[in-house]
Amino acid sequence: MAAAKLMDFDRALELFEPVLGFEVHVELNTATKMFSSAGNPAHDANHGAAPNTLVAPVDMGLPGALPVVNEEAVRSSISLGLALGCQIAPSSRFARKNYFYPDLGKNYQISQYDEPIAFEGRVVVELEDGTEVGIDIERAHMEEDAGKLTHVGGSTGRIQGAEYSLVDYNRAGVPLVEIVTKPIVGAEHRAPEIAKAYVQTIRDIVRALGISEARMERGNLRCDANVSLRPRGQEKFGTRTETKNVNSMRSVERAVRYEIQRQAAILEAGGTITQETRHWHEDTGRTSPGRPKSDADDYRYFPEPDLLPVVPAPELVEQLRAALPEAPAARRRRLKSEWGFTDLEFQDVANGGILPEVEATIAAGASPAAARKWWTGEIARIANAQDREASELVSPADVAALQGLVDAGTLTDKLARQVLEGVIAGEGTPQKVVDARGLAVVSDDGALIAAIDEALTAQPDVLEKIRDGKVQAAGAIIGAVMKAMKGQADAARVRELILERAAQA
Ligand code: ADP
Ligand code: MG
Repeated sequence: MAAAKLMDFDRALELFEPVLGFEVHVELNTATKMFSSAGNPAHDANHGAAPNTLVAPVDMGLPGALPVVNEEAVRSSISLGLALGCQIAPSSRFARKNYFYPDLGKNYQISQYDEPIAFEGRVVVELEDGTEVGIDIERAHMEEDAGKLTHVGGSTGRIQGAEYSLVDYNRAGVPLVEIVTKPIVGAEHRAPEIAKAYVQTIRDIVRALGISEARMERGNLRCDANVSLRPRGQEKFGTRTETKNVNSMRSVERAVRYEIQRQAAILEAGGTITQETRHWHEDTGRTSPGRPKSDADDYRYFPEPDLLPVVPAPELVEQLRAALPEAPAARRRRLKSEWGFTDLEFQDVANGGILPEVEATIAAGASPAAARKWWTGEIARIANAQDREASELVSPADVAALQGLVDAGTLTDKLARQVLEGVIAGEGTPQKVVDARGLAVVSDDGALIAAIDEALTAQPDVLEKIRDGKVQAAGAIIGAVMKAMKGQADAARVRELILERAAQA
């Protein structure tokens, strides 16, 4: 297929106004599934389970098997709805969404349709430069996931061209919350950035609530990005496309930018946009057509006759509301002022995704400045080089302990970096690495003085200069002593001692 023509992004924004809309699916990490007692593969303990080992008759729709609503999933959904600023429906209902597909044993998905559990919310997302943008939420509803198909034999991994397909019903019945935004207008040039920040915020919220592993690469969090353009001055929205299951924050940003550029080129050439789903291709950074999609897809929705309406007690809702964690934006504001960071310093931490690590390091006793220095400096550098997450390398407790050794004068900054390497290499706590590698600063003046006297004797001309008051000449002696001490000395103390010895010699 020929590559689509793209319009320059800035030019596209001159001619058209982008309108966005997001559907984010969150897999809940409940112990069991939405309507059965089978283990939930989206729970960390079940990650990597062999195909078709987490399946109950209900998940397959076997005759006579009846669904039972998972109470924990309902609680999680209410908490999420509240965290999104939504109203919680006093009564909401499940519905059957009918369609045939091999990953859906029952031939219908249990979802919510006209009576979602949560509706009319708003979340504040923060862009990288600290600008806050409010995103209106249309609804958040509960549903079950379908199974997972693997198409084998083709070159693309898609069904077209495949020789056969495998189906894994482990994912059938995984509890999901689908969060749908209202159309987002006014994003303008920042549309791609807002897209990314929105998904990031949803991830932060569900993580703070502890209701999902929220790992996009595992499919715990999946985003469909709707994009349309309207000519400047036109009120009616343009035709949208829905790019499916974009599986990283960065890809959400890229996919939105790409669709704006692609649609602008078509519209400018007098063409029309087809209302359709599109697939995102991570390797090429493009989207390709999926299936056409009318607004009135006929899923023959009707109320699920096997389940009662969900009627949460008002006390339960209030209890969950009282237990909500601080909203991500409010939390960031509070931490920034508590830590006394500048805007730039704080953005460095927040954009690096290491806010929880820095917070925990401070809680473990390090100063905010020291915690920030380690996580945005040496640890970030090593994480980058090893292509790993900073949070996986070292624990906040170890970082705080390491800084404690620096503060106590046991380690210089340079030695501390070596100790950090040891900790990351799995050699144990900072103290253990110091002991095992013999890395502590030599604080025994006797050993330092011996090395100083030796260096002064070896370089009498330097001794002469120091005596004549040219104290900067001491640098040469400091260098020799540090070398003799293998770097394990406090340079300031060495300098002090040199001046003393030179005066006495
Ligand atoms: P569907 O299930 O058909 O995708 P939904 O209502 O679940 O429809 O989600 C559609 C998403 O697209 C919502 O976030 C909605 O706000 C957004 N949207 C609707 N119309 C447009 C449009 N013209 N341009 C961009 N986004 C739109
Ligand atoms: Mg939808």
